[in-house]
Amino acid sequence: MIEVIGLKKSFGSLTVLESISLTVPRGGVVALIGPSGSGKSTLLRCLNLLTIPDSGIIRLDTQTMDFSKGDRLPRDRELAAFRAKTGMVFQSFNLFPHMTALENIMEGPVTVRKAKQSDARALALGLLAKVGLRDKADVYPEKLSGGQKQRVAIARALAMQPQVMLFDEVTSALDPELVGEVLAVIRQLAAEGMTMVLVTHEMAFARDVADRVVFMRDGVVMEEGAASQLIDNPTQQATRTFLSHFHGGREGARESSGRVGSS
Ligand code: ADP
Ligand code: MG
Repeated sequence: MIEVIGLKKSFGSLTVLESISLTVPRGGVVALIGPSGSGKSTLLRCLNLLTIPDSGIIRLDTQTMDFSKGDRLPRDRELAAFRAKTGMVFQSFNLFPHMTALENIMEGPVTVRKAKQSDARALALGLLAKVGLRDKADVYPEKLSGGQKQRVAIARALAMQPQVMLFDEVTSALDPELVGEVLAVIRQLAAEGMTMVLVTHEMAFARDVADRVVFMRDGVVMEEGAASQLIDNPTQQATRTFLSHFHGGREGARESSGRVGSS
């Protein structure tokens, strides 16, 4: 579903991604872990072409983007078609404050896909139910908890019917007791076969929900492997050092507090 080959990105003299290669099969879930500043967000943004790589190849489903020919950047229409295949959810929810939960979810289908209001409404109500917030349709973001806002943001991304979902530390800004309800939604999407790449600091969650884990540091993939193997038995010293910050930490116990379907 996703194939990344030799992806490079620098900002000025700072090399942020150094020849990253990555494969995610259809229905696969890959967790990206690593210290702050290692390039995880930049990699996700490149997958969504919010950031244009300097060189390398990204294949998404049937579409291939080759950035190695720097002087021939993809045209806007190509970029838009490519972007539409991915849905991205960020740490900050970025909901439109002047729109209800329902209107936030309808916005993309109506304005971008030119869907009929009635169709977009039915889709949005279905997605609200899916994230356990059917009763919050007419509520404005300011009246929602962080966990509820993040679930609306996930529903909004799903409304564009992406083939791949990208999650960038979507629980990092949440109070601990709200983390579980968001992870539960992501877990459910994984069970339904959604292809996903997620950046997370929730190691127990990564081990549990991801098939593969990729450990990045300084713009390089230091280690990659089956989720439980990499997290329980990393082979690289750098991975062990990073993971030692989490052992005995608060994650693990966290998700049990969350259920889909409660709001
Ligand atoms: P992570 O998500 O792993 O914390 P990021 O991908 O956000 O890492 O950032 C990697 C490095 O790239 C950091 O040093 C960051 O300051 C830098 N960086 C990210 N985006 C930009 C940008 N638009 N301009 C300049 N530097 C950037
Ligand atoms: Mg980041």
